Amino acid sequence: MTDYATLRQYLISESESGELTFLADYPLSALCTFKIGGPADFVVYPKTERALISLVEYARSIGVRYNVFGNASNVLFDDPGYRGVVIFTSELKSIKIDGPIITAGSGMSVTALSVAAYRSSLSGLEFTYGIPGSVGGAVYMNAGAYGGEIKDVCISSRVYNPETGEIEVYSGDEQRFGYRESIYMNSPLIILSSDFRLNESDPVEIETLMKNLMNQRIEKQPLDLPSAGSVFKRCKGYFTAKLIEDSGLKGKSIGGAQVSEKHAGFIVNKGGATASDVLKLIEHIQEEVYRQFGVEIQPEVRFIPAE
Ligand SMILES: Cc1cc2nc3c(=O)[nH]c(=O)nc-3n(C[C@H](O)[C@H](O)[C@H](O)COP(=O)(O)OP(=O)(O)OC[C@H]3O[C@@H](n4cnc5c(N)ncnc54)[C@H](O)[C@@H]3O)c2cc1C
Repeated sequence: MTDYATLRQYLISESESGELTFLADYPLSALCTFKIGGPADFVVYPKTERALISLVEYARSIGVRYNVFGNASNVLFDDPGYRGVVIFTSELKSIKIDGPIITAGSGMSVTALSVAAYRSSLSGLEFTYGIPGSVGGAVYMNAGAYGGEIKDVCISSRVYNPETGEIEVYSGDEQRFGYRESIYMNSPLIILSSDFRLNESDPVEIETLMKNLMNQRIEKQPLDLPSAGSVFKRCKGYFTAKLIEDSGLKGKSIGGAQVSEKHAGFIVNKGGATASDVLKLIEHIQEEVYRQFGVEIQPEVRFIPAE
């Protein structure tokens, strides 16, 4: 029996026990905000942390590749899809509020988290309202907006370390947050849940700020088209979107991928865009911005190769 045959049997057995649900040979374009990506061999939704850990242990034991995602809102899946197991944390949505501390499962949406905080008169997560990611994805990326960053509020995370087989806790500086950086990047660590320390505040003020930030998103971002948000990281001394716009690239298209006419920091999928279109457009933007301004810009969006 091939590894895939035993993996399929494992998944069938775990799904019959109610531990997870899974899809086989399923298009990733249907599961990410960019609406790009070919079929993954397996897409799995573990229902508990235990099921997630068992699946990862099993995949490792038979040498099958896997990758963990939250809402796939900051990734570009590959045109041939993904050989191995794509794991989504969407079912891990626990939430506990203890005074000013909220503990949230990695699959919880950060927008839902900010609403829960508001309902408990807790301030600090307003900036995440409207970010279409999960807690795990936002912590991994140290997501930020409008002057706020996850690092300002995330005091610790519980993670599974597949190399040691242990659950570990990373607190404070141990999370090594930087601009769109964390210790979790390019590491095997899987975030299970995170703790956020917030401040008691007037719910009317919290709500007003959330509404203002959402209105800014609606006004400035091309939310009517599939994208992965801002494609490039900020660069020192410049506004990246302005550099792209000043390079004359607003509206520039390669295949179905286009530099948004509304916000030059976004690449949008105008319909039928491929990963290859997006990668070529990213390279073109980098070359033009460098040629015209001598500034190197780096992608924030994470490309996930098929193998
Ligand atoms: C319209 C739009 C607006 C956006 N606005 C913002 C914004 O204002 N600010 C901002 O920072 N970003 C923004 N983004 C980008 C994106 O939403 C954020 O980066 C978000 O935090 C990603 O979360 P996710 O759950 O979708 O992560 P995913 O895209 O699923 O994953 C991103 C990375 O995190 C890893 N990862 C995810 N979950 C885990 C886990 N549990 N354990 C270990 N690794 C994990 C993945 O392997 C991947 O490498 C926007 C995107 C869109 C489409």
